Amino acid sequence: AMSTLGALARANARRKPDGLATRFEGREATFAEFDAQGDQVARALDAEGAKAVAYLGKNSDLAFQLFLGAARAGVVFGPINWRLAPPEIAQIVAGFGADMLFVGPEFIAAVESIRAELPPGIRLVTMEGGQPEWPDFPAWRDAQPAGFPDDRVTPDDVALVLFTSGTTGLPKGVMTTHANLLGQRRQTLGHDLSYDTWAEDEVSLVAMPFAHIGGIGWWVLGFANCAPSIIAREFRPDQVLDFIRDDGVSRMFIVPAALQIVVRDPRAATTDFSRLRHVSYGAAPMPLPLLQEAMEVLGCEFAQCYGMTETTGTICLLPPSDHPREGSPRMRSAGRAMPGSELRVIDPEGNTLPVGEIGEVAVRGGNVTPGYWRNPEATAKTMLPDGWLRSGDAGYMDADGYLYIHDRIKDMIVSGGENVYPAEVESALYAHPDVGEAAVIGVPDPRWGEAVKAIVTAKAGRKVDPVEVEAWIRTRIAAFKCPKSVDVIDEMPRNASGKLLKRDLRAPYWEGRD
Ligand code: ATP
Ligand code: MG
Repeated sequence: AMSTLGALARANARRKPDGLATRFEGREATFAEFDAQGDQVARALDAEGAKAVAYLGKNSDLAFQLFLGAARAGVVFGPINWRLAPPEIAQIVAGFGADMLFVGPEFIAAVESIRAELPPGIRLVTMEGGQPEWPDFPAWRDAQPAGFPDDRVTPDDVALVLFTSGTTGLPKGVMTTHANLLGQRRQTLGHDLSYDTWAEDEVSLVAMPFAHIGGIGWWVLGFANCAPSIIAREFRPDQVLDFIRDDGVSRMFIVPAALQIVVRDPRAATTDFSRLRHVSYGAAPMPLPLLQEAMEVLGCEFAQCYGMTETTGTICLLPPSDHPREGSPRMRSAGRAMPGSELRVIDPEGNTLPVGEIGEVAVRGGNVTPGYWRNPEATAKTMLPDGWLRSGDAGYMDADGYLYIHDRIKDMIVSGGENVYPAEVESALYAHPDVGEAAVIGVPDPRWGEAVKAIVTAKAGRKVDPVEVEAWIRTRIAAFKCPKSVDVIDEMPRNASGKLLKRDLRAPYWEGRD
């Protein structure tokens, strides 16, 4: 069994030494080269005496190689969301306790601006030059001889500290072990899901950010399948279409916001999608009309992934067989627990709720984190006894074990004593011909406690008439769920994972209260 990332890289190098492992902006590495360079990175980190290294940069083949080298050397790797502001980055690097920071070319100036706030003695390395005073990654790596032992680490060692998206508060560092990372493949073996059973000729696209589980976790899944990874520096819709056309991409993971941009790109209509077999989507709620539109445009199979950084990504999956062309009510579900994972819906005291009742989703399984990095208080708040983890998401389970996510507990609106789930209202709004995106929040209301408010953007080339939308939605959902007001804005506030920041939308209304 492939117990660590290093052992997996070794096995890939034996299985397909000349097979393409990574392609990035014209540069390619075979599995044998990737493995050998991982050894040199491990040696270089060893020579530095590194314990924890942070990475601030966009996606690249070298970033994955750095991760492999660190994983092999027993050095904890912490990729940082490059969309954060420099002071936030400084805070995360310091909290992580990095003794080295690897910096992509776009972020050299940002790092120089926060130098004084970084841990004293931290060593800085550039990934692609641009700062002659710091060592440059390829030369730093190539100064080392070949080979590195694979017995330095065990499956339960922490390989990665991934920071959560910071949708509900400050990002938290999640400890991720080798076993957590490689479990996603082990768990799906023998399952009916083509999510895992990749054919010999698959080509994977890594277009989501590396510092998010949807980027790095998806890369690991492709690597565990010994498939080539086409790496996008960052998500760009036109480039995704190029990769599909020119590189024969057959599988990708994509968040709903990015999927929407791809399928609505004018070029999508003339792109040949015949080699694209599978799209996994998740990390945020998927509006049903968008899913149906994407199925129509891309014409391939789809699977929904539900999970979080704390579960090393997917822990619950809606497989392709639950995505019939003609549609099905199941397409509103996030699917069923993956083999090796368990799901429960619990009340605030931690008791399991009956089928159909909404509560907090709790998860357990081999992919669940041992806890937050250097944060025992957050760990204690999130982990229940016996390995169960509270997700912070509200949802219910049907009699067949399908989970229906109903928003974050923090996003739930209580209006006049009724619970309103924003995702349901948003889904209805998405069906309006003029609405591009929709976010539903609760705002203070003297009569109802909270009132339902919708904030929408217009589709390209359309105009939204708020009064018309208010009337339109009243014919589609129950009165108590209908927005009492609709605001139109130009663009939704989002974080680097493409998630809508409802706390930013809510903030102006709740200032000075809670
Ligand atoms: P933070 O924990 O810092 O507030 P975050 O929870 O957004 O940020 P992630 O770990 O990246 O950070 O995201 C996990 C969350 O994403 C889940 O708890 C859930 O709310 C949401 N999510 C993931 N997959 C799905 C899905 N398929 N459908 C709906 N929501 C999803
Ligand atoms: Mg979270």
